[in-house]
Amino acid sequence: MIQSSVAPRAFHVMVKPRGPICNLNCGYCYYLAKEKLYPGSDFRMSDAVLDSFTRQYIEAQQVPEVTFGWQGGEPLLMGIAFFERAIALQEHYKRPGMRIINTLQTNGTLVDEAWGAFFKAHNFLIGLSLDGPQAMHDAYRRDKGGAPTWERVMRARDIFQKYGVEYNILCTVHQANADHPLEVYRFFRDEVGAQFIQFIPIVRRDNDTGYQEGTALTAHSVTAQQYGDFLIGVFDEWVRHDVGQVYVQIFDVALAAWMGQRPGLCIFEPTCGLALAMEHNGDLYACDHFVEPRYRLGNIMETPLVELVASEAQQAFGQAKRDTLPQQCRDCEVRFVCNGGCPKNRIAVTADGEPGLNYLCAGYKAFFTHIDRPMRMMVEELRQRRAPANVMYRLAQEEADLAARFAQARRNDLCPCGSGKKFKYCHGRA
Ligand code: SF4
Ligand code: SF4
Repeated sequence: MIQSSVAPRAFHVMVKPRGPICNLNCGYCYYLAKEKLYPGSDFRMSDAVLDSFTRQYIEAQQVPEVTFGWQGGEPLLMGIAFFERAIALQEHYKRPGMRIINTLQTNGTLVDEAWGAFFKAHNFLIGLSLDGPQAMHDAYRRDKGGAPTWERVMRARDIFQKYGVEYNILCTVHQANADHPLEVYRFFRDEVGAQFIQFIPIVRRDNDTGYQEGTALTAHSVTAQQYGDFLIGVFDEWVRHDVGQVYVQIFDVALAAWMGQRPGLCIFEPTCGLALAMEHNGDLYACDHFVEPRYRLGNIMETPLVELVASEAQQAFGQAKRDTLPQQCRDCEVRFVCNGGCPKNRIAVTADGEPGLNYLCAGYKAFFTHIDRPMRMMVEELRQRRAPANVMYRLAQEEADLAARFAQARRNDLCPCGSGKKFKYCHGRA
């Protein structure tokens, strides 16, 4: 029997109705290899599992809003009828006054008019995987036959716009696009018309198991410095032109942290354990990035979902994120927003040789340090009940003032930029 104090009030399960089955073969995918976990399976969620999960998931949430997250593999391979049934079950089990939200992550290549109409009719929030302009996207996102997919994904975007489907762009950052932050961001903003963008770093272990073991990474993986520079490049453009118009997930998360609120994204929370993953047969795992035998909590057809979520194993998984934080992170000035990042990437060692440092540390540190001042400005605006977008005008004013002071500075004056160097050795250099 579960103690109610142990069961969380709310948690999220990423559901994989088609398991790892996908019509694409993206070079950096971490999930295709999970097929090995279920030899001989048809990889289709049965009606019994869907029904039981829907009931248990809704019953377990002690909040008025419940989000179902569909992912894969490629969830659209289940067909529309499966999702119509899912909606019917949600309607059947939801409590009066409860709001149900469906989110779905897709590679976009199977989206047609019927899907567009369905998503709109049921208010799905879609995550569309797109890695930037054509060449950068097609570098790794190819189908099983090796054919590029960019044009098909852009067609999905057209359909979403035609039907008014709400969508986010999910862009992974890897060797083919990491050095081009402005090109990628401007493409999303100006050509795709995206309002919501997530940038996910590709950090993938290079091993035969597909599990989080070993420290070697694939050649597609982004380096820490590249990721930091990428985020800085995008941020500098966004903070001057697009605040309040374009929403970039990591910038929103950072602003929440600078406001003293919880980041709201598991990667930057102090602990994890409330973002689980469920395979097609009802097997529940600690997290989407730890779908491997030692992190399998059980099966919801045998053990109640809420018991698995509140289990000691899952609590230990969640607490380990904080308990294993190396001293370098504990002492770090940006820990309040970073919290050491996702445990799956903690494969580096600190300057003192302590294990458990995030591989992306240098990038996170550079990025979070770089945005400190504009973040403080936005916090100031919010506390004065003004729009954070005012940061754009403040920065523009500052930059105009500085340009005027540069124009007046003499060669031997201290540089107006505040570097402490003479102007002739700093911004006044020919
Ligand atoms: S392991 Fe990483 S992705 Fe999984 S819940 Fe924790 S922070 Fe989130
Ligand atoms: S920036 Fe680096 S040292 Fe600081 S909390 Fe993040 S991972 Fe740890």
